[in-house]
Amino acid sequence: MKILGIESSCDETAAAVYTGKGMESNVIASQAVHEQYGGVVPELASRAHHKTIWRTVQQSLDEAGVHINEIDAIAVTQGPGLMGSLLVGLCFAKGLSLSRDIPLVGVNHMDAHIYANFIDETPAYPFVALTVSGGHTQLVHVTAPFEHKLLGETRDDAAGEAFDKIGKILGLPYPAGPVIDERAKDGDPRFHDFPQAMLDNNFEFSFSGLKTSVKYFLEDQEDKEQFLEDHLDEICASVSYAITEVLVKKLRNAMEHTGVESVVLAGGVSANSMLRRKARELTKEMDCRLHIPKLAYCTDNAAMIAITGGMMAERDMYSDMELKPFASLSSRK
Ligand code: ATP
Ligand code: MG
Ligand code: FE
Repeated sequence: MKILGIESSCDETAAAVYTGKGMESNVIASQAVHEQYGGVVPELASRAHHKTIWRTVQQSLDEAGVHINEIDAIAVTQGPGLMGSLLVGLCFAKGLSLSRDIPLVGVNHMDAHIYANFIDETPAYPFVALTVSGGHTQLVHVTAPFEHKLLGETRDDAAGEAFDKIGKILGLPYPAGPVIDERAKDGDPRFHDFPQAMLDNNFEFSFSGLKTSVKYFLEDQEDKEQFLEDHLDEICASVSYAITEVLVKKLRNAMEHTGVESVVLAGGVSANSMLRRKARELTKEMDCRLHIPKLAYCTDNAAMIAITGGMMAERDMYSDMELKPFASLSSRK
């Protein structure tokens, strides 16, 4: 089966082709226009998707050496994400589906982050997924393909959002997650003890207090600018430490509660080196298998949409022209 995956939920226009042989192409057009605003501007994102989507899809087909007429299913992100951005991908996919008579599959972006782990490996069910991205932080018990039980999630900011908002306070460019990760490698994580919230609660998270605590910590310094200049690496390391400690402690709770023998990390924050290392240590200690997508499949991409779409097509989980976007998981109909 040859699957064309299309992703446009946020600020990445992406397309990928998956065949029985593997991921044949994975094209991502990132939108630089948002950098100057320090975050994604929804209206600009929609316009940029509109401008690049055709070119991106054509490139993914060309790189894969596959003609559109050979495609067996078009998988497209249905949500969650920015409504205007989702609509561009969805309308494009529907048009292509209709004109070429190719079946359509609507894919949940958060499911796709999880199933990105199936591109290069085959995790065994049941497993626990720690899904950590720009908009979500969830612990999910996956008992079989597309059988998901939500164990807990964040009550406020997502882990990636915490990295990005704290980065803004530290004067770092958006998205700050990867920058903080790099700087943290040269810093002492014990430099300052930032709070780890909700440790007495099994599977839920809260990261908004951490951001406030970083803000006050900086304001308490006599010369904030100088302090930042002298200790940026240490602050980044201490912040990374606080966030990843909470994540792995909750992951441990979920593993003990479910008794699973495999764990997968998913979403943009699973690219974080400290999290990857701690998850490796934890799963080794608990004698469990750990799967982490390769870096290109952690942050938003269409390869994860293609693989998930393929798994859905195998199970006859097709969509029709009524397929509607949803902005958040809770608003899904
Ligand atoms: P969602 O998937 O919840 O809809 P999203 O699609 O915007 O949100 P992703 O693309 O999965 O999120 O991930 C982006 C997030 O991952 C950003 O917050 C970014 O800072 C963070 N991130 C990426 N790489 C790293 C890293 N190495 N360390 C920490 N955070 C990272
Ligand atoms: Mg992005
Ligand atoms: Fe995402």
